[in-house]
Amino acid sequence: MAECIVCKGEYTPGSLCPRCRADNRPWERWQQNRPEERGELEGLEAFMRPHLYLPLAITIFAFFCSLLGIAIVWDGIRPGFRLLAVILIVGGCLLVTYANYEARHSIREQMLLAPLRRGWLAALNTPRRQAIIIPALTILLAFLLVAGMVSSRLLRELLCRLVFDPGYCKEDPGGFRERVTEALPLILMLCSGGFLVSFTYSSSLLLAMRYAKEKNRALPRPLFTDDNRLADVVRKAVEEILGRTGGMVVHMIGTRTTSGSTVQQPTWHEEQATPAPGTGAIWSEPPTAASG
Ligand SMILES: [Zn+2]
Repeated sequence: MAECIVCKGEYTPGSLCPRCRADNRPWERWQQNRPEERGELEGLEAFMRPHLYLPLAITIFAFFCSLLGIAIVWDGIRPGFRLLAVILIVGGCLLVTYANYEARHSIREQMLLAPLRRGWLAALNTPRRQAIIIPALTILLAFLLVAGMVSSRLLRELLCRLVFDPGYCKEDPGGFRERVTEALPLILMLCSGGFLVSFTYSSSLLLAMRYAKEKNRALPRPLFTDDNRLADVVRKAVEEILGRTGGMVVHMIGTRTTSGSTVQQPTWHEEQATPAPGTGAIWSEPPTAASG
């Protein structure tokens, strides 16, 4: 059994989906022909190809920046923290690229859901805006961190004890310029790491969005974008629950009241619908009785 691209139900390859009646043949051809769907390194390579492997290029750049940081720029920070920073920066770049590759199908659904969402928080939570917001938030966080490092005595004490080499910090912190110069290796480490990982995230997210647009052009859209198909699936599910797989007809029998008589509530009864001969349409005899 395979998973229907429209309703996520199970269906037999080569036939219509029994749940939503969608034709999944374009989806089957897509899975066979698109190298992105082969998974692992081959899929990831094909995923990055349209943007000239930009996430990979940023990751390699991050690796060489980290080596430069360990050797020169991060001088004054404890060796353990420098090594940890290299692992987090390079590993973070690889991780966000692979995460966006794996999430390419759900990113497509988020893009299609975006116009249906309401509220400014929901509007910010769309893939297109996330590609801009994540680097912007990183810049804001880096700015706040720098401000905290040069203005908070407690934070400086903690960093000098835990992060910087013993004897690196001077007894007298000095003025603003001296404090910034003192914290510069850590500022460069955090800013470069944050920017590189967030830009890798944005570039791989843009690739996932490009892939989603190609899928939208070639394949049936999900169930929630097609009102008629969605209503049909819900109707069938309700009929199955009620044991009325052939449909259901409800007869409402109204009442008339005259002045002075007791009021009678309307009554109703339901029956299995019968398909009209040759049409498949559901019909029933009109109600013949009415009390009053
Ligand atoms: Zn389906």
